Amino acid sequence: MQAKDLRIEELVDFSAGLIQLQGRRLILHDIHAFAQFRKDLLSMVGQEHAQRILTRFGYLWGQADAAAMQRIFNWSDPLEFLKAGPRLQTLQGVAVAIIKSLQWDSNTGRFSMNLVWHRSGEAVEHLAEIGPSEDPVCWILVGYISGFMTYGTGQEIYFVERSCRAQGKNVCVAEGFDRASWGADILPYLPYFQSDGIQDKIQRLTHEIELKNRALARARRHPQIQKKTSGFPPVEVRSAIYARVLDSAVRVAPFDTSVFITGESGVGKEVLARYIHSQSARSEQPFVVINCSALPETLLEGELFGYKAGAFTGARQDRKGIFEEADSGTIFLDEIGDITPAIQLKLLRVLQEREVVRLGENRPRKIDVRVIAATHQDIKKCVVEQSFREDLYYRLIVVEIEIPPLRARPEDIIPLARYFTKNMGRKFKMSGLKLSPQCLEYLQSYPWPGNIRELENALERAAVYSQDGVIQPEHLPPTITHSSPLQTIQSEKTPMTLAELEKQYIHAVLEQTGQNRSRAAKILGISTTTLWRKLKTPEK
Ligand SMILES: [Zn+2]
Repeated sequence: MQAKDLRIEELVDFSAGLIQLQGRRLILHDIHAFAQFRKDLLSMVGQEHAQRILTRFGYLWGQADAAAMQRIFNWSDPLEFLKAGPRLQTLQGVAVAIIKSLQWDSNTGRFSMNLVWHRSGEAVEHLAEIGPSEDPVCWILVGYISGFMTYGTGQEIYFVERSCRAQGKNVCVAEGFDRASWGADILPYLPYFQSDGIQDKIQRLTHEIELKNRALARARRHPQIQKKTSGFPPVEVRSAIYARVLDSAVRVAPFDTSVFITGESGVGKEVLARYIHSQSARSEQPFVVINCSALPETLLEGELFGYKAGAFTGARQDRKGIFEEADSGTIFLDEIGDITPAIQLKLLRVLQEREVVRLGENRPRKIDVRVIAATHQDIKKCVVEQSFREDLYYRLIVVEIEIPPLRARPEDIIPLARYFTKNMGRKFKMSGLKLSPQCLEYLQSYPWPGNIRELENALERAAVYSQDGVIQPEHLPPTITHSSPLQTIQSEKTPMTLAELEKQYIHAVLEQTGQNRSRAAKILGISTTTLWRKLKTPEK
């Protein structure tokens, strides 16, 4: 049998009522419907995944056809069998496939093939439905021919389309080799041929897209409530003191009660609020953040409760407030201690009535929102001083969670620092970015008045300054490396032990001598062995 002798009318049997290819059922597709589907797929899952799905589809199709060809015919020349692949593409109408060159040595496994596709249906429809493309688009053709040749040779064969009609060329050109001949060049293309995890990834991606769209819509409407969120998961920390915080969060999460989070600036109040939301039954619903101290009273009121067009100057159209946006989800009111008495009263009403009235309207709207509030202020003191309403305070503070400052839980510093360093490495594309051991000492002994946010910012700066993938002390902000032991004593609430002070002082001297140990030992009046030993002594 020779590939050129294949005839569609002989291969395909229409007489049985259903279309069959020697016992295997076929379906005719409408190419325009397929083009529409392709367009939908692109918008639903993005190019990367659409390409994977369609390549994989072609791949399975090619394998099925190769199996049929092997079953039906007796091929005396194995090359003729391989040529049946492009021939079938032509007969099935997907493109006019012309082989430009073909070599295969079944002993060495070397395979190479050059192929030209004229009038590729995929390219033509892509042009018509989506328009010109920067990259080749004949994903099914590529998948098909790879699947066919893989089946036909019994080894991994991959094709890559080098130029495509959808890029404005006259024809599409592809080349294929065996896995060994490709070497590393095929690696970027391999995922397109593999099936694993597509389903999961599509689901995850679709979910991400949904969340991003929501966030984007919110950001567009509320540009001023966008806030940088440090993305560390609270589980990254390991101190007993923070474990208790997390434990409270997990316990309170399933109940719809209000939670009040207190703690210094930068301790991660928003992260904890997000965590509570993620552990609650509302986790699939919106989590909306507003920083109450970032806006003047009139704007904040509009942001919180929404307004009707014309309610105030600048209110050009009706707008939902974030209570409505967070409906069935969670709202995080950060820096609640800063809101004015007028807004406190309105907020109290919203929480009591479970309904919100937009500015300029009379009609109340029902809302179902869980409230998490936070402040860095001493809110009890505000209540006593009557700058914060007592009734609102009690409504918000059903459960209070206090996040201790970072200096109260020093064992969290290094894990967090490592976590942020890894993150920065990813963010700045510096794989393997790490902290030098000297850095750890500095990080550990600094009091971190700005807490976790300060730590994250310090490491971001350090990552930017570092060059060879290692963060050294000189890359850290000077406030951290120049804090002298004496300053540390003054800023520490609990004074350090003599051994700790000694160690810090040794480091300070080492810093001055440019890490020269014998000079440092001379200044300190001890031997280098003693210096070595003192440095090695583990902290209690
Ligand atoms: Zn093409």
